[in-house]
Amino acid sequence: MILDKFNLKGKVAIVTGSSTGLGRGMILGLAEAGADVAGVTKSGAEGTKKEVEALGRKFLEVKADLSTIEPIEDIMKQTVEEYGKVDILINNAGIIRREDAINFTEKDWDDVLSINAKTVFFFSQAIARQFVKQKTGGKIISIASMLSFQGGIRVPSYTASKSAVMGITRALANEWAKYNINVNAIAPGYMVTNNTKALREDKARNQAILDRIPAGRWGLPEDLAGIAVFLSSEASNYINGYTIAVDGGWLAR
Ligand code: NAD
Repeated sequence: MILDKFNLKGKVAIVTGSSTGLGRGMILGLAEAGADVAGVTKSGAEGTKKEVEALGRKFLEVKADLSTIEPIEDIMKQTVEEYGKVDILINNAGIIRREDAINFTEKDWDDVLSINAKTVFFFSQAIARQFVKQKTGGKIISIASMLSFQGGIRVPSYTASKSAVMGITRALANEWAKYNINVNAIAPGYMVTNNTKALREDKARNQAILDRIPAGRWGLPEDLAGIAVFLSSEASNYINGYTIAVDGGWLAR
């Protein structure tokens, strides 16, 4: 039955950035589809934990700061100790810094590249090693952006980092398909989260963005649940190295 291929019962997912926004939206989708979750969070994810448990699934809260790659090994260890294995990684945690390119600082460059690109690569490497050890294969999904495809305005390090995510996704897919590891990315359009608060509060930018979205609305975290389940499931076993836009038609304009 085709719907059985979307079922995540018995699967274990690590999701970074699990307290708010898109991470929380995707976690609830995975849990509804049957997965247990290790949610990486900088400051606590009590709300997400309660919602996952209300769906009858397990949630392991793992506190870590992903601005460096140092905590990755311990996150893997805690997850495998708790669940015995891992099947899915969603590289979701990310930050953005807004400033004119002419005034952009080295710190705003390094901070964003470190979590949005370096951590994505090394977390993917750590989980791929685990998948190979388990001899199970697995799924790696990274959160890209419209700025994997476009230049953006006043966010040069974010554009660089999200363009890197699309490239890393292709590079790793090529090397790891032979281990039955699917590496793909999701490029959300303009979504209602903390990440876009400043844009939504700027009346003129907010209207300009809305006018350009064919769907006529900002996206919501739950708009990512379906694609996250699909890319985490057997139903996507022959999709390798692709970045799928979930953008209300933004890129089609
Ligand atoms: P958000 O600010 O609600 O979520 C970001 C998450 O990353 C939070 O859970 C936060 O705790 C976590 N995080 C940030 N720094 C961290 C650190 N040092 N260590 C551990 N965790 C850390 O915003 P969001 O929009 O849900 O962002 C999630 C992802 O989606 C990001 O990668 C973002 O770039 C991407 N994205 C968002 C949009 C959008 O329109 N909101 C569009 C495209 C891509």
